[in-house]
Amino acid sequence: MSELTDQQMDQLRAALEKRHAELARDIREDLKATGSERYADLAGEVNDSGDESVADQMVDINAAMIERELVELKAVEGARRRMEEGDYGDCIDCGVDIPFARLFAYPAATRCIACQSQREKTYAQGRSAPA
Ligand SMILES: [Zn+2]
Repeated sequence: MSELTDQQMDQLRAALEKRHAELARDIREDLKATGSERYADLAGEVNDSGDESVADQMVDINAAMIERELVELKAVEGARRRMEEGDYGDCIDCGVDIPFARLFAYPAATRCIACQSQREKTYAQGRSAPA
């Protein structure tokens, strides 16, 4: 358990709830905007076959955005679960307390800055991971 004060936890909990509501709304609206059931199960695997027609490109941009939003939504839900379990604020790799400033900037953070940058070096594939 991290050494966050009750007041800091309340701030972070509120930030997570707000972000969760924003993401859920954005995803709903973006799915509606695609006008396609093709992306109804985006939570599953996203096809990267690379043979889309030009006409599909706009939809694909939308799909990439929705995919990012879904990734963040999952991260936010994970953070709320850890908060309930009392594990919130601990780096999942090295176990140090993640500083409040970092959590406040990104409440769904699961790693300290050192572990996060290490991970990004290791898994750098041109796809941006949540901070
Ligand atoms: Zn760490």
